[in-house]
Amino acid sequence: MVSSSSPKVSRDVLMQGIAEGITKFENEFPLEDFSKGDYKQYPVITLLTCSDSRMPVNVFGSIFNRIFSVENIGNQFRSSEGSVLYGLLHLRTPLMIVAGHTDCGAINAAESNFVSEPLGIRNELSIVKDSLDGARRLYSVSNDDSDLKYTLLSEVNVDMQINYLLANPEVSELVKNDELLLLGVMVDLHNHYDEGYGRTYTINVNGERDIGKLKERKVLGLMAERAKRLTR
Ligand SMILES: [Zn+2]
Repeated sequence: MVSSSSPKVSRDVLMQGIAEGITKFENEFPLEDFSKGDYKQYPVITLLTCSDSRMPVNVFGSIFNRIFSVENIGNQFRSSEGSVLYGLLHLRTPLMIVAGHTDCGAINAAESNFVSEPLGIRNELSIVKDSLDGARRLYSVSNDDSDLKYTLLSEVNVDMQINYLLANPEVSELVKNDELLLLGVMVDLHNHYDEGYGRTYTINVNGERDIGKLKERKVLGLMAERAKRLTR
């Protein structure tokens, strides 16, 4: 697994950033709205996304009391099944987003030999690898070593998470009754989709992967217009 060598930040600067963050949160705390809801949580989105720091949860709008966020390496349902099901079956969010992204380190690592990783990392990477193996059995993913290889795998990895969600009878029932919409997206951090850096594309809705059909779902608004995928 590749460790990144990043620009170093001093602890002073780091703590200053934290101080600014918590001060802003305190100053902007939405007490009025929060009190109207009896200080409970009423999220409308369950989000399963990669822990990658280039995948901020606020890609999908405001977070506080709106997004029930589950993050792990490689955005795996089975690494955090209980948390995701809690959002869907108890909090009853009407929307579930599974978000993958370009240059996903987890996808990359799952494709490599990761036996020397610590057990906890191996366990989670094995789950990612199993998703990718499953995807290869179901979908045609070109195995070449092109620049796009990991992006293609990230796409079908999102498809697989939606398959796993739909395999849960209670989740599938909610989808069937139109009480829950499953939206699979790719966040293109690296302009692999050729329309600009940082754009988000719809690749899967309730298991449907056909871009023509997704574009017809006008109720999705911008996310229907943004239907695009690199794999079939
Ligand atoms: Zn990632």
